Amino acid sequence: MKIAVLPGDGIGPEIVAQAVKVLQALRHDGLKIELEYGHIGGAGYDAEGDPLPLATLKIAQQADAILLGAVGGYQYDKLARPLRPEQGLLRIRKELGLFANLRPAILYPELASSSTLRPEVVSGLDIMILRELTGDIYFGQPRGVRILANGERQGFDTMLYSESEIRRIAHVGFKIAMQRAKKNGQGKVCSVDKANVLDTSMLWREVISEVALGYPEVMLSHMYVDNAAMQLVRAPKQFDVIVTGNIFGDILSDEASMLTGSIGMLPSASLDANNKGLYEPCHGSAPDIAGKNIANPLATILSVAMMMRHTFALEDVAQRIENAVRRTLQSGARTADIAETGSEKIGTMEMGDAVVSAL
Ligand code: NAD
Repeated sequence: MKIAVLPGDGIGPEIVAQAVKVLQALRHDGLKIELEYGHIGGAGYDAEGDPLPLATLKIAQQADAILLGAVGGYQYDKLARPLRPEQGLLRIRKELGLFANLRPAILYPELASSSTLRPEVVSGLDIMILRELTGDIYFGQPRGVRILANGERQGFDTMLYSESEIRRIAHVGFKIAMQRAKKNGQGKVCSVDKANVLDTSMLWREVISEVALGYPEVMLSHMYVDNAAMQLVRAPKQFDVIVTGNIFGDILSDEASMLTGSIGMLPSASLDANNKGLYEPCHGSAPDIAGKNIANPLATILSVAMMMRHTFALEDVAQRIENAVRRTLQSGARTADIAETGSEKIGTMEMGDAVVSAL
């Protein structure tokens, strides 16, 4: 198992170090894990003048999976756009063809009080948002700002989805629903679009429905994105897997992550057509708390569980890691972001150690 480790910026190195402890514990158990480190983001710019240095891209291309911390920092805000840390992330996703972004929103019952929603609405929540990551209005051409005949400026972008792009994300969605059905007995996909207004969405709906015919055991429903945004807050547990395009997924996955109230808990995966993947926490580099040993490493550790499940097809190992996290929370261990006011808190390293001993 060749894993590229790209800690990045801010809290990235601290939280990735805890996830690496988990990988090392698995190595002691007999898994053949090789780690290779590279710079990305601001760290790439500092070391080699490029947020995605060639050496890092090579390491990532040769690896089976990539573990990433986070990128970004105030000190890079004034750089030209191609040199900014987030370009490293956008480019690595594009270079590796990572078109399927999986963002689970899970609320462990122990943390039900961290959500801003009532515990009975969110407790035990376990949904998966699957966002298409390499198409849509973020990449469609033409785009730009033009001057109209009357001298006024006009901004424009183009929403584009080809049939093959929709088809491949649909397959990922139905397969994930089947995999999850083994655990939750549901097997449901809700495809989210705006087919009442957008032609792109009409094609999206048609193609998703065609692909669904190949997965008779999965129940497919369609929902308009405005309704989906409302339903996610009203009754989020009605969903199992949500499949959607890049821009709708961007917004809905952030909304869903906040249902759990704890950004430090949420992992993500971005996969290519062969299940090679980049695994990272949903949160950013949190420069406000970097270097203080207070960041929550659980999202990064849970990203390792996703790596075991989706790239290496080791469901048992994935569940062992998730169970270790659950037991750690049950034992009362909390970093500052998930601790109740006035209760005891532990640091980043201590949380990593607690998960390793639970494992
Ligand atoms: P952020 O996610 O870094 O932080 C938002 C808030 O959540 C902060 O208060 C932070 O302290 C807290 N937080 C985040 N992760 C935490 C953790 N593991 N434990 C405890 N608290 C945590 O978002 P931001 O402040 O908007 O952005 C900061 C930098 O991160 C920016 O440069 C931004 O561009 C970058 N960013 C990177 C990614 C990525 O690498 N994928 C994603 C989002 C933002």
